Formats: sequence, C-alpha cells, structure tokens
Amino acid sequence: MASGSFRNGGPKLTSKLDRQPSSAAYSTPKPSSKSRPSAAPASRRGGSVAPAAAHSASKAGGDAGVPGRVRVAVRLRPRNAEEMIADADFADCVELQPELKRLKLRKNNWESETYEFDEVLTEFASQKRVYEVVAKPVVESVLEGYNGTVMAYGQTGTGKTFTLGRLGEEDTAARGIMVRAMEDILGDMSPETDSVSVSYLQLYMESIQDLLVPANDNIAIVEDPKTGDVSLPGVTTVELRDQKSFMELLRLGEAHRFAANTKLNTESSRSHAILIVNVKRSVKGRHDADQSFHGENGTSSTMVTSFRPPIVRKSKLVVVDLAGSERIDKSGSEGHTLEEAKSINLSLSALGKCINALAENSPHVPVRDSKLTRLLRDSFGGSARTSLVVTIGPSPRHRGETSSTIMFGQRAMKVENMVKLKEEFDYKSLCRRLDIELDKLIAENERQRKDFEDEIERIRTEADSRIAEAERSYTNALENERLKCQQDYMDSIKKLEEKWMSDVEKARAEHQDACLEKECNKEAPTSSSDEIAEVRQLLESEKLMRQSSEDEVSNLKSEVSHWKNLEAAGNAEIMKLRKMLDSEANQKQKLEEEIAILKSQLLQLSLQADETRRSLDRGGSGKVLTGFDSLVSQARHSQLRDSANGPKASIAKLFEQVGLQKILSLLESEDPDVRVHAVKVVANLAAEEANQEKIVEAGGLTSLLMLLRSSEDETIRRVAAGAIANLAMNETNQELIMAQGGITLLSITAADAEDPQTLRMVAGAIANLCGNDKLQMRLSGEGGIKALLGMVRCGHPDVLAQVARGIANFAKCESRASTQGNKAGVSLLIEDGALPWIVKNANHEASPIRRHIELALCHLAQHVNAKDMIREGALWELVRISRDCSREDIRMLAHRTLISSPTFQAELRRLRIEF
Ligand code: ADP
Ligand code: MG
Repeated sequence: MASGSFRNGGPKLTSKLDRQPSSAAYSTPKPSSKSRPSAAPASRRGGSVAPAAAHSASKAGGDAGVPGRVRVAVRLRPRNAEEMIADADFADCVELQPELKRLKLRKNNWESETYEFDEVLTEFASQKRVYEVVAKPVVESVLEGYNGTVMAYGQTGTGKTFTLGRLGEEDTAARGIMVRAMEDILGDMSPETDSVSVSYLQLYMESIQDLLVPANDNIAIVEDPKTGDVSLPGVTTVELRDQKSFMELLRLGEAHRFAANTKLNTESSRSHAILIVNVKRSVKGRHDADQSFHGENGTSSTMVTSFRPPIVRKSKLVVVDLAGSERIDKSGSEGHTLEEAKSINLSLSALGKCINALAENSPHVPVRDSKLTRLLRDSFGGSARTSLVVTIGPSPRHRGETSSTIMFGQRAMKVENMVKLKEEFDYKSLCRRLDIELDKLIAENERQRKDFEDEIERIRTEADSRIAEAERSYTNALENERLKCQQDYMDSIKKLEEKWMSDVEKARAEHQDACLEKECNKEAPTSSSDEIAEVRQLLESEKLMRQSSEDEVSNLKSEVSHWKNLEAAGNAEIMKLRKMLDSEANQKQKLEEEIAILKSQLLQLSLQADETRRSLDRGGSGKVLTGFDSLVSQARHSQLRDSANGPKASIAKLFEQVGLQKILSLLESEDPDVRVHAVKVVANLAAEEANQEKIVEAGGLTSLLMLLRSSEDETIRRVAAGAIANLAMNETNQELIMAQGGITLLSITAADAEDPQTLRMVAGAIANLCGNDKLQMRLSGEGGIKALLGMVRCGHPDVLAQVARGIANFAKCESRASTQGNKAGVSLLIEDGALPWIVKNANHEASPIRRHIELALCHLAQHVNAKDMIREGALWELVRISRDCSREDIRMLAHRTLISSPTFQAELRRLRIEF
C-alpha cells in the first residue's frame, strides 16, 4: 500500500447517500488505448491523465499511473437451514436495493441506515454474475498487463470461500471466482509467447505457508528496495497450461490447507488463503513499429531496430480469501492464549488500519505492521486494480458483525489506487538475439580478415617479384656499364700506347738526325793521315780484343769439356740411384699389396674362420664323419692344399695361426686401422650363433664393452655395439651383459652418439635385452628404458623400429609376468614415461614401427594399466587397432583386451561409444 501522498485524491462518494448512483459505477477504468469505457471516477476526477497518455508514459518508464478506486461489492448469503429455524420470526437485518446499488441496514423496526456500494448482490445472485461484476474487469486488466486483486471480506460463514474458492465440480454453475478467472486467463494466452504460473499460500499467525508444498513454512517476504515490490522467493510457483491442472492444484491446496489447520488445531476461518497468478505476455509488433529507426542517410536500419529489446508485460492477479472478520474472544475461547489471539487478529486488524489511513488520506499508512498488509501493499493504495467483495449474512443476531463488515467495505471504497501497466523490456531475449548477431559478426570479421591476409600475401608476392625483376635489370645494366667502361679503358690505353710508340719513333728519328749532323760537323776538319793512323790504331786494338776473346773461348771450351766429364759421371750416379729407387718403389708396392691382402684376409677371416676351424676341429677330433661331411671336409682340405698360395689359403692359415685370442688382442692394438679391422672381424664372427659362445668365453664380450667405454672412434663404437647386439640374442649372454654393466655403457653410448647406425645398433642391443623376462626390473632400474626412449630424438626409422621392438618385447614380458602373477603394479614402461611416445606413434606410417607399437599397446592394456592408458589417450588407439589394424591377430588381440577390461568398458560406456 502506497503512502497517502501517492494517491490522486480520494473518492468523495463513499458513505450513505452522498454519491450519485452511476450506471458505470462498477465499470473498470481501462487505462489502455482500447475502446473500453474509461473509469467513471477517473474521468470525473479531472481526467488529468488520459488513458493513452498513461500508456505512453508507461513505455517511457515514468508512468505515474491512472487513478483507479478500489471497487467494492456487497453480497448477501441466503438464510441457511439453521437461520430458517432460529430466525423464523425475525426479518433479515439488511434490505437490498440492487437496482440502486444500495443496502439498508436495519437499526430496529422503524430505523435503518442506507449505504451505497459499487455493486449490490442479493442472495439470488448467481456465481456467474458475481464473477462478471466483481472479478472479470480485474481479470481483463491483468490480461492487459496491470496487477489485479480480488478479495473477500466478511464474517465466517457468510460465503467468502463460496464466492472465491468453489470448484463447482458437481455443478459448473457453482464455480467460484478463482476457477472462472483462470478459465478466462488461460483462454486468452498464446502458448508460444505467453505464460501463466500459480502460487497458493496461507497466512496464519503471521507465518506464510506454501499450500502446494506444505513443508515450505514460514516463508519470508522479500521487498525490492528500489521499487518496493514484494515477492516470495521461497514459495512454489507452478507453470500452467490447462484448466485441468489448475483444478488439481486448487484441490491439492485445499487438502493441504485442511491438513495444516487440523494440525494447528485451528479452523480455516482463522487463516488467510492467497492465490497468486503470474501472467507474462510479450508485446509484439506495436513497439517495433512505433520505434522504426532511420540511419543518417535516411535508410531504415534493420539492425538497430532489431536490437531494441522486446517488451513483456508481467502482471499478477492476487485472490485473497480473508480470515473471518468477526472479532475473536480476547479471553481465548477458541483455546488460544491472549498472545495467539493477538497474532491471529494482527493481519486483519492491520489491514483495517491501513484501509482507514488510506481512506482518510492519512500521511502514514502502517503497511509494515503485518505480513498481510505487506503482501497487499500494491492492492490498496498501490498500482493494482482492486475489487473487494464483502459478504454478509441475513441474520439479525449478527447485526453487529454485519454492520462492521459494511463499514469496512465503505472505507475501502475510498481507497484510490494508481493503476500502472506492468511493462518491461525483455533484456534476456534481446541478449540472446545480440549473442546470435555477435556470432554472425565474428564469423564475418574472421572471413574479412582471411580475405585481407590473402590480399596482403598477394601484394607481398607481387612486390617480391617486382623487386627481383628490378634487381635483375639493375644487375644487367651494371654489367653493361662495366663492360662499356672496360672497353673505353682498353681503347684509351691502346690509343695512348700508339701515341707513345709514335712519340718514341719520332724522338729516335730526331736523335739520329742530330747525331749524323754532329758527326758531319766533327769529321769535316780531320786529315786523311790522321784518319789512317786512327784506323790502324783501331784495328790494332780490335786485334787485341779478338785475341783475348779467342783465349777466353778456348778457356771456356776446356772448362766445358771438364764439366761434361763431370756430368757424365753424375749421370751414371743418377742412373744408379734411380735404379735403386725403382727397386725400392717396387718393394714398397709389394709390401703395400701384401698389407692390403692381409687386411682383406683379416676381413674375410670372419667368414672363413668358423668354417675352417670347424672342419679342422672335426678332422682332428677323430669323430666319425658322415659320408657327406667327410666329403665336404676332404673337399675343403684339398681346396686349401690346392690353393696353398691363394688368398683363401692365407686366410685359413692366418686364422689358424692367429687364433681368436690373437684377434681379440688386436682390438687393443695401437694402430687405429688394425683396431677397426679387428672389431669388424669380431663383429662378423659374432653374427654367427655358433661363434658367440667362443667369443664370450675368450673374453670378447668384455673387450667389446671396453671398446664402447673407451673408444673415441665412431666406427669402432658402432661395430662394437653391433657385435654386442648380436651377442645379446642369446639369453646367457644377456645376463652376462647386464652383469658387466653393459646396460649403463649402452645407455651412455645412446646418449652420446649422433650417427643413426650407431644408435640403431645400440637400440637393437637394448631391444634384445628387453625380451628377457629375468632382466625387466634391472633393465628399467639401470635406465635401459629411458635410454631407449632417448634415442627416438634422432628420428631415423631404423632406430625407431628398434626402439618400438624393444618396447614391444618389454611389454610382452611384463604382460606374461603379470598373467603368471609374478608382477604387480603399473607397468615399468608407464613408470619410465614410455606411454606418451607409444600413443603418439601408435599409428606410425612405417609399418614395422607401427606393428611393434600396436603389439606393445595390446600387451600393456591390462587392468592395472588401464587408467593410465585412458588418461594418456591409449584407449582410442586400442579401439582403432581393434577396428583398423590390417593384421588380424593384432586386431583380435586388441578386441579381446578391450572386451575383457571392465575399466575400458566403463569408459567406453561413459563416452557412449558402441563397442
Ligand atoms: P466463509 O468462507 O465466509 O466462512 P463459506 O463460503 O464457507 O463461508 O459459506 C458458508 C456456508 O454457506 C457454506 O455451506 C456455503 O455453501 C453457504 N453459502 C455461502 N454463500 C452462499 C450463497 N450465496 N448461496 C448459497 N449458499 C451459500
Ligand atoms: Mg471460508
């Protein structure tokens, strides 16, 4: 209930005859723009707020509402059987004038008081008529988006429940207001856009109880601090689609009310029953049309329009069947204490006080005094359209109660509400729409970005090709320029040379000319005798010079002959030396050939050694040879004899002479070349099973392991690892290798080596060790599995195949051990972290790798490992193997494994995978 200041003046026509009867007195003020008759009191009271204006005001959010007075009807109950007898000699205490909407309350036989109501309903008024005049206008308002209240007030037994709550199951004409209101509401709903939900509760002794779920007791009232609207979050709200379910709900509520009251040892007349019907309807079209949006250039922007939130109207119909209005005896005659009696009365008397305050326009309305008045704050002095029916009985014995009921009704008629449309924006559905729109925009943006990036890429490629083109033409131009410059330079040099030559020629000619001139000038004055003397002298000196030259020549000649002699002697010496050199070179070549032969002999020895030794052994052991064996043996001996000077004979001879011990000792030779050859020979010998034992006996395994540890040479380490891998095929040797710390040496080699072939050998050796049931714990404990996994870094398929083989061997041994009960706990492979690599490579393109891993997965898939496998994604691989593996045995193995594991089964079920 709002404060008095909120109201737009009170009605001045409340008591007795101070109001003109109006045919429209009970017609509802319709604030909507529809062509309904507008409220008489509203239009009379100045009509300051026109309905249409009120409507648009509500959309703007600042709706002050339309005045709408609380409508009050009085209903008289016919005499009941008891009254027929008890009051037989008395007249009724009231006389009704329905056509004048008046009621006369007799004071005595000759005096009465007259009251006017909005509607006066006689004892003959049908339920249908009562609904139509009291409740229907309110229901129609609710359907249009206004809150509405229908309330019955009166003494117990006067027909409140009859008026409001009758179900009329045996007689449809007897249906009360609740049933009829709901029929009208449900009949007007559009199932796609509208919804109706219902709560039903009882208020007794200031405690609210849910009549649909009676265990919900003492429900709190929550007030919106901004709007002051009250709500009951703890109460059950049932969404309804049809009348049948509503009837069931009412029956259920009634049954619970009866049970609750029996339990509380009270009568239903002491409690208030409240039915709340929530109506939600969406308003379509109208607002969108009103608010069409125009963009800057005058085009209509559909996007903006569609982002306008849709409007919903959320209204509420509250039907209140009040407790009996008769005063309860303060002495507590019903078995209540005084405190209880106060509490029972509290809500009803608070309602009376609020209505008095509102009727008198008092500045303070004690809304907060009781739960009932808090719940009904919108119904009296608030924004709801409210209709009150006061029920009275005819008996003069209850004249006092009847009179007070009438006075209550009269005061209520003065209460003015400001009826407001309960309209709001539906932000939720707008939000949904915006989400969709946003997703569209994101997709569009992504497309545009892709186009943009493509465009940039295209431009970049084009630019690159242009730059390349420009660079090419620049280089060409530069080259041309360079050639031209070079040519110019050469030309100018040539010219300069020519010029220089001609200058030199010229200078020489000039010089000769000058000399001639000089001589002519000199000779001219000498005489002929002088001349002769001079010539003689010249001749003389010429002779002398010639003589000395001839001496010199003869000297030189003798010297030359001497030297020639010397040279001849030297040549002879040289010839001698050359011959010596040649013989020396021949010897060297022979020696080199011999070395080469020896080297190849060492290599081939590996092939021959065993056979030769075997045949020699056989020959010497005195065993009886089979015909064939002896033939072969003889053939070999003769072959050896026949080709005593050939390479094979030398090999055999060498092998015999040298012996395994010697070959092994060559492994430690100073000469690296010899070491390489020796290790190759040992590796070749080790490749044959029959030699392996001898090699190990002779300490070959230890020597090979030593080489792994000490050699810097990659080839030696590779060949040694290969030999160890071969030796590791034998179970006894496997144990020996482990005992001699071989796994640690192999792990170190695995960590250091780069060459894929070395890694392949090392992986092969470890893979062989992995197949030994007895070595599982030690192998894992000494880092063998980790070394194996470390080698996958090189990525070479041969290495990967060996790693996969090792893992498969290991998994197989483990699965065998666990089947025999020799192993508990999760696989050492899983503990050593092999699972991720296994899962990653389970579908490796190289079939040897794939097969080994598939086998490993099948062996691993025991119950103890299942959880780890699921976590690492191995289940998918098992499913794939069971479906796609081309090898039937593996496929079947995977299938069996999956079927027999409860853990896998549970996971497959959880993921809803048909298996
Ligand atoms: P309240 O709810 O006010 O205590 P009820 O609705 O229970 O009263 O009515 C008391 C009795 O009177 C019931 O038996 C009911 O059928 C009967 N009654 C009430 N109003 C009428 C009416 N208008 N016509 C016939 N019987 C009525
Ligand atoms: Mg009742």
